[in-house]
Amino acid sequence: MLIEALSVFPDMFETVISTSIVGRARRAGIFDFRAHDLRDWTHDRHRSVDDEPYGGGQGMLMKAEPLIEAIESIGAHGPRPHVVFFTPCGERFSQHGAERLAARERILFVCGRYEGIDERALAWGDECISIGDYVLTGGELAAMVVTDAIVRLLPGALGDEQSAREESFSAGRLGGLLEYPQYTRPASFRGMDVPDVLLSGDHARVAAWRRASALERTCRCRPDLVDGADLTDQERTRANE
Ligand code: SAM
Repeated sequence: MLIEALSVFPDMFETVISTSIVGRARRAGIFDFRAHDLRDWTHDRHRSVDDEPYGGGQGMLMKAEPLIEAIESIGAHGPRPHVVFFTPCGERFSQHGAERLAARERILFVCGRYEGIDERALAWGDECISIGDYVLTGGELAAMVVTDAIVRLLPGALGDEQSAREESFSAGRLGGLLEYPQYTRPASFRGMDVPDVLLSGDHARVAAWRRASALERTCRCRPDLVDGADLTDQERTRANE
């Protein structure tokens, strides 16, 4: 998989892309990443990528021409990239979205700045994504968040394939619930004890406890996820109590 970003701050990505699991996956050839400087597609002396909004208002907007030229020129070589614009007005990003994007061969993330992007440029995108209901100064952090979420789903990126499948929001064993509480050594710390069942060595009891705890936590912290979760009839009844 090839992930690319179009940005006026292409240097922002290097640390994230070269660190920890994402960095290891890149070095192992599981994915590659390229950041493109939008200013390479400007034609004036000042290399300007922004201008005042029609109709007045505060701030500047990213111009359509360099964005469209860049998208066309990047896409002219190799497989056609799936083009994603970042904007708070896009569809809210989720684990399902990460799974969907992880199946793509090539993705180009377009990172906005200033007060956003000339609306006409969005026609060159395949989708618009928001990473949450808040406003960032630019799309680069959003691109890094989405890249991180995608890369850890790629086969071989995590040492233990199981750990991606047994996580919060994943369709796998937890059926879309939040993850159960986890503990590590010591078994007792400042009067707080690890639940006995986790020390029992009884795998069936541990699995049942985890599933019940995941359901309880989801009902308490994210009741909006319960309807869409894959639950047994008994669990559904418990969730509705
Ligand atoms: N004026 C815009 C609005 O009110 O919707 C906000 C523009 S924001 C200051 C500048 C850029 O940051 C956006 O074009 C987008 O690329 C990025 N951005 C900000 N918040 C974001 C979010 N929640 N999700 C994804 N991208 C975001």
